[in-house]
Amino acid sequence: MNNFILLKELIDKHNSFLLSTHVNPDADALGSELAFYHILKQNGKKIRVINHSATPYNLAFLDQDNIVEKYDESVHKNVFEETEVFILLDLNQSSRIVKMENSFREFKGLKICIDHHQEPENVFDYIFGNSGYSSTSEIIYNFIEQTGIVDLDYKIAYQIYAGIMTDTGSFRFERTTPRIHKIIAALLEKGVDPVEVYDKIFNQFEFGRVKLLGEALNSVQVDSTKQIAYMILKLEALIKTGTSEADIDGFVNYCLTIKDVKIGILFYELKDGIKISFRSKGNIPVNKLASKYGGGGHINASGIRMFNTTVEQVKDEIIAAAQSYLNY
Ligand code: 5GP
Ligand code: MN
Repeated sequence: MNNFILLKELIDKHNSFLLSTHVNPDADALGSELAFYHILKQNGKKIRVINHSATPYNLAFLDQDNIVEKYDESVHKNVFEETEVFILLDLNQSSRIVKMENSFREFKGLKICIDHHQEPENVFDYIFGNSGYSSTSEIIYNFIEQTGIVDLDYKIAYQIYAGIMTDTGSFRFERTTPRIHKIIAALLEKGVDPVEVYDKIFNQFEFGRVKLLGEALNSVQVDSTKQIAYMILKLEALIKTGTSEADIDGFVNYCLTIKDVKIGILFYELKDGIKISFRSKGNIPVNKLASKYGGGGHINASGIRMFNTTVEQVKDEIIAAAQSYLNY
């Protein structure tokens, strides 16, 4: 049986759904979640969309109807019992939903993952998608196309476009295939305006974000091999520029613009620990590097969150570990 037909059957058989996505959601996380919300809505289902994180300000336009709720234990404690199906989109490790992880693990209903990362955790009843897809939004597109569960309308096309555009790095990363461009053509035919979506996501930042980028660029260094470039952002820099974690998205890519550099690393301080972002060129699997420390991701883009530690404590070890991947 075609996998997507199974997913449609699971939807047909159930009435109440809870959707969630990863901490600090990006446009693929929110786009796939909201596209899926519309699919379920058009099929007359009861749906809640609850995320650990608030929606970043530059992506709020994707949720004009305020469908997404920020998780609050006191408000949402009964939701889990009232739901038959819990679907996680754009992640495959339950730790990525942070405060909702325990409720997910203890959830008695059906647990579904729709995602494009590698090495899923063994906690799901069903997994749809795989790492051959550019984005979770592309999976949703294929689901609609293969099952006809809904007609692709402007609202759904808009969400899917935002997810594919951002997860392919505006159509320049490896999974930018002829098929992707055909999907994009179909989305534009539904009326999506690529200039508008790009502008809303990438040209409407707060002033402080550009200042913060300055701080990150100023901090860049290369290791002894000159093949690893790394940046460090202190919490003070975020406070000084009035910015938040969502503003840091994309900074690490500048490391890879340096000649000969194959791995880029961004270390930044969180209120309760640190976050490390990795980017690589070619076959260097930074997801493996991240998973050594409890993180994960894709071959060329991965990350880790570490609690109760500092950048100073882990920096040298992480760079040494990254060096061992240079000749992969
Ligand atoms: P970013 O560096 O943009 O935050 O994350 C790049 C990719 O790494 C994400 O698409 C996600 O797949 C993965 N990633 C980032 N942080 C984490 C993490 O803490 N845990 C896991 N498992 N994956 C992460
Ligand atoms: Mn994604």
